[in-house]
Amino acid sequence: MLNLLDPSILSIIQARPANCHKGNFGRVCCIGGNIHYGGAIIMTTQACIHAGAGLTTVITDHINRTAILSRIPEAMIIDWKNLIEVEKRCLEADVIIIGPGLDTDPHARTILESVISNQTEKQWLVIDGSALTILSEIQLRFNYPHQIVLTPHQMEWQRLSQILIEEQMPAKNLFVQQQLQTFVVLKSHQTEIYLPNGEIYQNPLGNPGMAIGGTGDTLAGIIGAFIAQFADKTQAILAAVYLHSLIADQIAKEQYVVLPTQLIQQIPYWMKQFSIK
Ligand code: AMP
Ligand code: MG
Repeated sequence: MLNLLDPSILSIIQARPANCHKGNFGRVCCIGGNIHYGGAIIMTTQACIHAGAGLTTVITDHINRTAILSRIPEAMIIDWKNLIEVEKRCLEADVIIIGPGLDTDPHARTILESVISNQTEKQWLVIDGSALTILSEIQLRFNYPHQIVLTPHQMEWQRLSQILIEEQMPAKNLFVQQQLQTFVVLKSHQTEIYLPNGEIYQNPLGNPGMAIGGTGDTLAGIIGAFIAQFADKTQAILAAVYLHSLIADQIAKEQYVVLPTQLIQQIPYWMKQFSIK
């Protein structure tokens, strides 16, 4: 019932054509990072850029502006209080990643509702972190079911699905996910990916060194970047999960903890290794 992921999934990472330009690799908006959790959206955005997204905008609290400019000069920045600009930028995005460090206050809810209700036909949403908590409280209905990726850890999935962590078995998870009709990346020590067609994949990679704040934020960024640049979206999601853990396992050979910022730094190197056929 569970399909095991293996390195062949990384064959979607191909050498870039000589005549390519940034427009070929997608526009991504990363939304999150309030006054307390700025680091979360910085890691998501940085992971997204390092994983190859063509143009990345971060939509966040203005308090993060200086930190973002100094840590990620590749990113464009929009103040999330400017809802007109937020809507405009989101409308142009191929992928929106929303949730890391977003929190659950009324402004966060306004942005999430706006993003979901304005989702364009071809646009993908990756919903992570506190955006999942908001979802579980307001029980929004999705209009474009096959283009939403939910990335809960087990507690976030418990809130969303009402399935207790100790009862989160594939058959039960699938039952709820099939009603949502979204992709669900259920993160744990062996992450499971539930597809709208009912298939389930399991990631055999990963290690306890990944149990540190920021690892999930980093994965959200890689998923968004892969969806933005690779044609087969299912393969893109699966490859992102696999590569994230593969890099973490390389780091864990020599380190007790896997710092998300280190993992992020290594993404371009490992993408290059797998693009060489
Ligand atoms: P989050 O809780 O949102 O930061 O996500 C945690 C990330 O780290 C997910 O990608 C998990 O799959 C991964 N992770 C956490 N703990 C472990 C573990 N013990 N073994 C393997 N992966 C883990
Ligand atoms: Mg998280």
